[in-house]
Amino acid sequence: MIEQAREFDAADPLRDYRSRFDLPEGVIYLDGNSLGALPKATRERIGHVVDSEWGRDLIRSWNPTEAGGDWIAMPQRIGAKIAPLIGAREHEVIACDSVSVNLAKLIGAALHMRPDRKVVLSEPGNFPTDLYMVQGSPAEQRLAGRDAILDALDEDVALLMLTHVHYKTGEMFDMAALTRAAQEVGALVLWDLSHSGGAVPVDLDGCGADFAVGCGYKYLNGGPGAPAYAYVAERHHDALVNPVSGWMGHAAPFEFSDEYRPAPGVTRLLAGTPPILSMAALESGVELVAEIGMERLVGKSRHMSEFFRAAMAEHCPDLACVSPQDPARRGSQLSFRHPEAYALCQALIARGIIGDFRAPDILRFGFAPAYVGFEDAAKAVLALAEILDSGEWDCEEFKRRAAVT
Ligand SMILES: *Cc1c(COP(=O)(O)O)cnc(C)c1O
Repeated sequence: MIEQAREFDAADPLRDYRSRFDLPEGVIYLDGNSLGALPKATRERIGHVVDSEWGRDLIRSWNPTEAGGDWIAMPQRIGAKIAPLIGAREHEVIACDSVSVNLAKLIGAALHMRPDRKVVLSEPGNFPTDLYMVQGSPAEQRLAGRDAILDALDEDVALLMLTHVHYKTGEMFDMAALTRAAQEVGALVLWDLSHSGGAVPVDLDGCGADFAVGCGYKYLNGGPGAPAYAYVAERHHDALVNPVSGWMGHAAPFEFSDEYRPAPGVTRLLAGTPPILSMAALESGVELVAEIGMERLVGKSRHMSEFFRAAMAEHCPDLACVSPQDPARRGSQLSFRHPEAYALCQALIARGIIGDFRAPDILRFGFAPAYVGFEDAAKAVLALAEILDSGEWDCEEFKRRAAVT
């Protein structure tokens, strides 16, 4: 298996991109779906923004300067760079806030556009923050399992809100079909692309989607807590009401007027001042993903996850794969169920192989195709087989849970 992995690595068109990331020696990183790796260019970019733009040019950097600056335009500029990765046009995407906050804004906007409807429809087991944001809104939450979503769509539904690729299982919804079905009953659709953007093909405009949000710190490699992004289809730009009506979303923030007047387009989704250092890191991460291009990323992701799945079936048959068998129906990850998943994950980490655990019993491996190699994947499978065989996971040290699992 290792031999074959080496052959795949030698033929991998993305093999040179690994050196564009700062990955520690001896670590196999299969958790880029939780926190993307650090691009080397980001270290330099942050240094430049800190030293020249902030340190030297100070407040002048809000406008264009010789060093770069133009901080005020970053949300739109980064949004425009994310747009082609998710099948959107440049003016339909903006980088801002967290996924959670963008969900709250777009749920509010959707309710405003459907004043005679109250229901937000989603699925049980969706990412928690997505459901919590509905629960904290004036909407009425309705949950329906995957097979019951179509039946649950009726004329009370203001918004269908789903996560495109499920964070635990990696299962991917049919975006085009569900968008169409929701719109047939007059509902709007909001897609959470947190596990999709930079990992799987997404065509928001082609599917006629209404809204989307996505995460900056996973496959886009924007750094811990990176700003997220939000998409609004152009046809909704004029009607969009942002319930978090902050000054950065004002048509003329530096008029300092007492009356809120929304900016045109997606800019009105802004609320407060953008975190410039984080925005700079996000821009650097997005630029690298855009340079590689979605087609090559998706091609390698599918090849590698198939390789890993087959290797696991052969070497670790006790771990049941809960991700779809067809690589076109899942994200860039594979998840396995085992009652001791937490301890297995800790035992792997002790060997320098970082995957992650999702409660209560899922061991999850993400394949960020920009920097993970086939040999890494093969070594992870063999290490897991050894851990299962030796029982080395079965000790107190690996069962003790930290604050963040
Ligand atoms: C990672 C993730 C989030 C993260 O939300 P934040 O508010 O940025 O912390 C939200 N939704 C899904 C589906 C995710 O995978």
